[in-house]
Amino acid sequence: MSVKSYQHQGVKEMPSQAHDPDRVAEMILRGTDAGGKTYVFDEQHDPTKPTQWWFQESDEGLVLFVVFYTQACRWSRCLACNLPSTCSKHNVPWRDLLAQINFIFNLPEVQEKKMKIRRFIASNNGSVLDQDTFSSMALMHLVVMVNLYFHNLEVFTVETRPEYVEAPELDYLARGLSEGDTPTTLELAVGFEAFDEHVRNDLLFKGLSLEKLERLVASMAPYRFRLKCYLMLKPVPGMTREESITDIHNAITYLTQLSEKHLDSVTGEPLVRINIHVNPTYVAKGTPLEPAFAHGNYKPPTLRDVALAVLPSEASPLTVFISLYDEGLAVPDGSFRRPGDEVLATLIESFNSTQDYDFLRRVVELTEP
Ligand code: SF4
Repeated sequence: MSVKSYQHQGVKEMPSQAHDPDRVAEMILRGTDAGGKTYVFDEQHDPTKPTQWWFQESDEGLVLFVVFYTQACRWSRCLACNLPSTCSKHNVPWRDLLAQINFIFNLPEVQEKKMKIRRFIASNNGSVLDQDTFSSMALMHLVVMVNLYFHNLEVFTVETRPEYVEAPELDYLARGLSEGDTPTTLELAVGFEAFDEHVRNDLLFKGLSLEKLERLVASMAPYRFRLKCYLMLKPVPGMTREESITDIHNAITYLTQLSEKHLDSVTGEPLVRINIHVNPTYVAKGTPLEPAFAHGNYKPPTLRDVALAVLPSEASPLTVFISLYDEGLAVPDGSFRRPGDEVLATLIESFNSTQDYDFLRRVVELTEP
């Protein structure tokens, strides 16, 4: 697959100065093509309703995760990702996004649990901080609604590529969130995916250098914002299970050192707390993983691999969340969850909500070859 140099560097592809949804659509199609994707976009979705939402438990308590329906990710080329297929190729107007936000806050289950929600994760299966795909006015409205409804919120997370993070936006979000009833920290969630530079940029087409991630962390330190790094276990064909487990170990070492670069001068605590969110890779429909899987050149990781990959983080200051959800985007039999994995999945869920590594050791014991 030929890949132009800008694809590796993660250079921010700017649309014309005025917002131009057609030009953004061209960028999306260029990225889709460069990534060898064959999926189509979802133009049938009701634009006044989010794509998906769900509750999950973490060590901090209840999490509400919402994926808003917007124009797709402008990057769109990461090899194993078909998240843009849940989005529109076209602009979703800000009025529709406001309707999606109001829809979520009016849901009976959200109303019922609103005092228990400790973390809200805002996603659009792309970059929430890219104003060309997620309206700034809608983001402002979202902060207002979070402040109005979630009185016990500790963390407000937004998913984004680092190149869309701008200092004025961080200022605005920090100020807006500080006006709520309880102090709420902003967390930026970025796809780091793989530590190995060749895997991350040459094979996965992530377009993210270590320098860019380090600059992002330096810009977050004065605000004490948090960072969530998505990591993929075994993201590309040709990686052995041992190599993929070692890559997560290397990412844990690197991110630990990164968090120790910026310390509070009084307490010695990291200014930027880092959480790793480990996604065991599934075979996403319409991506190059699909033919590789069909021809026997790719096998998803197992839950044992995930436990072995994550165990070394016990000795680090990082917190960990292991995803067990393929968002319904895997091909048949292409998930990392296999029949009979229920007990292992329950142990991993217990780990997620307690950070007790004995649950992961139990997964390893139960799957001893
Ligand atoms: S992983 Fe993220 S940045 Fe990459 S194509 Fe998917 S949505 Fe876009």
